[in-house]
Amino acid sequence: MPDSLDLIAQEIASCTKCPLHQGRTNTVPGEGPATSDIMLIGEGPGFYEDQSGRPFVGASGRFLEELLQGIGLSREMVFIGNVVKCRPPENRDPAADEIAACKAYLDRQIETIDPKVIVTLGRFSMARWFPKARISKIHGQPRRFGSRLVVPMYHPAAGLRSPKVKEEIVLDFNQLPALIDQVKSWGEPPQDDAEDPDSDDPVQLSLF
Ligand code: SF4
Repeated sequence: MPDSLDLIAQEIASCTKCPLHQGRTNTVPGEGPATSDIMLIGEGPGFYEDQSGRPFVGASGRFLEELLQGIGLSREMVFIGNVVKCRPPENRDPAADEIAACKAYLDRQIETIDPKVIVTLGRFSMARWFPKARISKIHGQPRRFGSRLVVPMYHPAAGLRSPKVKEEIVLDFNQLPALIDQVKSWGEPPQDDAEDPDSDDPVQLSLF
């Protein structure tokens, strides 16, 4: 049977691969169309996400919706997910072993959606493509991985805490329509492009 977002979500719903399953109310697999051009990846579910089973439904989610509206999109038009699908207790950061345990689900979601642009929201999703990087240094700078661009951005929650960060998030978001157009103009990626985020030699866009 071919993989699908529904199938992945069903598997997540019964997953016990890491200790986070013990405290969850609901799993939060992520949501959005399988044909999304953009995939937004945050860190992990918080209280409201755990209660509802939906990603980004609290204050951060409202800000994210504003950001999407600012570029002519709605949350229904993009896929929104997280690196871990179950809420860490007390909203602590997800641990490395929990992210590793959950990675295969995110891998499959990315493969199924095949987005043109992946936006990492916060440092935990950024670390997958930009290990050791500092978000304050690289936010908003797209980098090519195979047939797509990955754009690191601050987590919306950081924008709610700091007006300066909020301004930077808005500027970073405003680039997205042009970046999608750019990826659409590429055609087929060269065979030797680095698709694997673990690759040593991702292709750097010369434009940025
Ligand atoms: S966080 Fe991911 S790996 Fe851990 S129990 Fe939940 S779905 Fe499974």
